[in-house]
Amino acid sequence: MEQITVTSPLLPNLDEFNDLLKEIWDSKWITNNGSFHKRLEAALCEYLKVPYISLFTNGTLPLITALQALRITGEVITTPYSFVATTHSLWWNGIKPVFVDIDPATGNIDPDKIEAAITPKTTAIMPVHVYGQPCDTERIQAIADKYGLKVIYDAAHAFGVEVNGESILKAGDMSTLSFHATKVYNTIEGGALVMHDAKTKQRIDYLKNFGFAGETEVVAPGINSKVDEMRSAYGLLNLRQVDDAIAARRRAAEAYREGLKDVEGITFFNDTPGVRHNYSYFPIFVDAEKYGRTRDELYFAMREQNVLGRRYFYPLISEFTTYRGLPSAAPDNLPVAHRMANSVICLPMHHALSIEDVNRVINCIKN
Ligand SMILES: *Cc1c(COP(=O)(O)O)cnc(C)c1O
Repeated sequence: MEQITVTSPLLPNLDEFNDLLKEIWDSKWITNNGSFHKRLEAALCEYLKVPYISLFTNGTLPLITALQALRITGEVITTPYSFVATTHSLWWNGIKPVFVDIDPATGNIDPDKIEAAITPKTTAIMPVHVYGQPCDTERIQAIADKYGLKVIYDAAHAFGVEVNGESILKAGDMSTLSFHATKVYNTIEGGALVMHDAKTKQRIDYLKNFGFAGETEVVAPGINSKVDEMRSAYGLLNLRQVDDAIAARRRAAEAYREGLKDVEGITFFNDTPGVRHNYSYFPIFVDAEKYGRTRDELYFAMREQNVLGRRYFYPLISEFTTYRGLPSAAPDNLPVAHRMANSVICLPMHHALSIEDVNRVINCIKN
């Protein structure tokens, strides 16, 4: 049987892309804040309903750069239930990650457990809107305000997510996005940093261009994360079809929920009222006792049927060798995160998934 992959990249129309490439060739301007770069930043601000954005070459460098721009040092409170780049961005800045357990209702950092992890060295909180599920941004901000901490959201999964009509990207001091090929919206490789004022945007633009603030002035040890014109043009085209892609994902999510609602031992998240979800992932959680098989038994049985799920996130970041020696990485500090990591499978989810594919995945799980 044909393979059903866990994801599939959203690709622009090739003829339309060719037309834009022709424009770029004619202009002979291929990178360094060219016209497509400017147009993509403006179009993303409009789509995402945010005032300022800076493009980056991937979703990891904006995390690293945000920490630098806010001069974060010492310890940062974060979640172990994420992609490893979240914590790596702290390591690259010489910051000690402090892992806090997650809320089983969302998979996001549990606000009830943040205060106990704060020490005199804590300078910031780095939460993740995991699977695009909004964090409790109000409670996190209240804690940050009480202790004078910055908040940087890793919003790599949260492209286009809104709460009561407001972009989730407005929360905290800054938010980062990833436009990697596997994400809801992609520029092949790419990412962005979202900020709230023009001064910060300017500083970030210096930092992603070696720290250059003018022809002869370097104001900081900046990195190179400039996005070229080809990726910017590709991004402009993909932005036009991202709403259709999200709608197709929603139909797949609804079909999964309908098909799996009576399967004992399988649970999943439902939509939250007031939230515009992006259906970036469809995680299910396997209760081995009730389901009759372990998560890994199901995962490998699916693979035998050529249905590729993904154990995402497993293992936890706190289990990798770089981080497992940290006191906060102790498994008894993170019981909920361990339970989720050991029971999760992300089912195939992308814009081109057909209802027949969804039904094949459901049947695989039922049998
Ligand atoms: C994808 C992802 C990143 C990193 O993005 P890249 O574009 O691959 O560098 C960071 N955090 C999370 C949660 C991600 O899923």
